[in-house]
Amino acid sequence: MHIPHSIVILVFVCCISAAVIIGGMHYYETQRLWRDAAIAEEAARESEAALQAIIADAPVVERSISQGETISIFYPTHDQSDLLCNSTPTKYHTHASGILFFVAAQYDMTDDIVCTLGEKTIARIAVTDRKFATTHLAIPPEYLFFTPEQRRRIQSEKAILRDIYANSSHVFHFNMFTSTPYERITSPYGEQRIYQNGTVSVHNGTDFGLGVGDPVYAIGDGTVALARNLYLCGNTVIIDHGLDVFSVYCHLDRMTAAEGQQISANARIGDAGESGLTVGSHLHLAMKVGGVWVDPLAFLAHARAL
Ligand SMILES: [Zn+2]
Repeated sequence: MHIPHSIVILVFVCCISAAVIIGGMHYYETQRLWRDAAIAEEAARESEAALQAIIADAPVVERSISQGETISIFYPTHDQSDLLCNSTPTKYHTHASGILFFVAAQYDMTDDIVCTLGEKTIARIAVTDRKFATTHLAIPPEYLFFTPEQRRRIQSEKAILRDIYANSSHVFHFNMFTSTPYERITSPYGEQRIYQNGTVSVHNGTDFGLGVGDPVYAIGDGTVALARNLYLCGNTVIIDHGLDVFSVYCHLDRMTAAEGQQISANARIGDAGESGLTVGSHLHLAMKVGGVWVDPLAFLAHARAL
């Protein structure tokens, strides 16, 4: 087939033009990517420099909490050393620019809480006194004295609980209620209870007046670490929210949560009741943070700020 020269030349010119245009576009595109990458790199260098400056100058975090309260502390650092708060190993959540952890004061703590990351002191939390209520209670005598068999059962269950509290997840579940859905508090956290024989105990949770069968909900996302009958707490559900934050639900009539189950903040975990050592139907809600019992309502109020 004969193709006129003019057409061959035209096609050739077109191809060259297209190559130049596409090449030019490619060159332009590459340049743009390089430029964007350079800008991004520069910004990263600048923010990294700014971050390093913040990290280098980060002062000791100074805070104050009252007995029963929990506080979350953010500290800018890239250091991943062990964190100790008053010599207790403390888990932390790692951000790109720092670490987040909880500090909690039990009802009877009076000393400052000092946290060290590796060799460095990073937080000092003063603990202020709080006035707790005192109440006189008459309870069935068999609740004050245990038989050897009951003691053995209580001890073996304590060992199970110790194991659970020692194995919290390193992942914290931030989705938490900021209050409880229950209206009536029948016994507050920290209440001193003086029994008829003079024995004194301190209430480590908050009691809510719920009837047998009333629904009980998980206060936050987490994993069901325990769902079984215990001698003192009765039918008990414990949820691990991560970073050594646990919520405990006692005296349930019925448990609908199963051990190992992932649970969400609004999930029903069972029904209130009067199982275990109790003189009437109620929900005993307790929270353990960093190995100490804290005020659940104060924790949830603080969760609002997370
Ligand atoms: Zn209680």
